[in-house]
Amino acid sequence: MKSMPRVLIVEDEPSIAELIAVNLRHNGFQPVWAEDGVSAQRELDAVLPDAILLDWMLPGQSGVQLARKWRSEARTKAIPILMLTARGDEPDKVAGLDAGADDYITKPFSTQEMLARIRAVLRRRAPEQVDDSVNIGGLALDAATHRVSWKSQPLKLGPTEFKLLHYLMKHAERVHSRSQLLDKVWGDHVFIEERTVDVHIKRLREALGAAGAMVETVRGAGYRLTAQVA
Ligand code: CA
Repeated sequence: MKSMPRVLIVEDEPSIAELIAVNLRHNGFQPVWAEDGVSAQRELDAVLPDAILLDWMLPGQSGVQLARKWRSEARTKAIPILMLTARGDEPDKVAGLDAGADDYITKPFSTQEMLARIRAVLRRRAPEQVDDSVNIGGLALDAATHRVSWKSQPLKLGPTEFKLLHYLMKHAERVHSRSQLLDKVWGDHVFIEERTVDVHIKRLREALGAAGAMVETVRGAGYRLTAQVA
């Protein structure tokens, strides 16, 4: 992690953006503010941030549309995205995670919560860079090059799905509970709900295509990656 991680704040409310920026600056981050998708894209084209704080409700393209777009583009797909949502928008949160957000923060939030979540997503990226590779029944993951393939066909995974798959493959055939996965994959799970694991498992299966069946649900226990698909 760089000494001053750059955080792109995409938020149309100047008062909220300013509050976030001040708090980030006081805590060793380098905030950059964009008021909508167009100016956010301009910032991304210029300098890639270490993380993006993305408001759900924006003029023009919504936060979900932007998350989906940035996840699909090679240049931006690995940047952690934290979605800012309104209180009680439960379906929105799931849609946000489905669109590719790594986490969400419900407004109004405390500075400490926001900082903890940003630090968690930045920490989560670091272990992915550990140099090793795993190959199970045609499914191959190379941590050094960040590539995943199924029977030599490359697959596209988001950063959280990559880390989740990496962990499951390194501990294949074993059953992992949701809380174990939160602990091992998410690291700092103080603010993350267990259903977040389900959302990312679903996305992982979709990304794996034919190999998705290797990620098994073990009723009442959790998840496991197996080469012996039933
Ligand atoms: Ca807004």
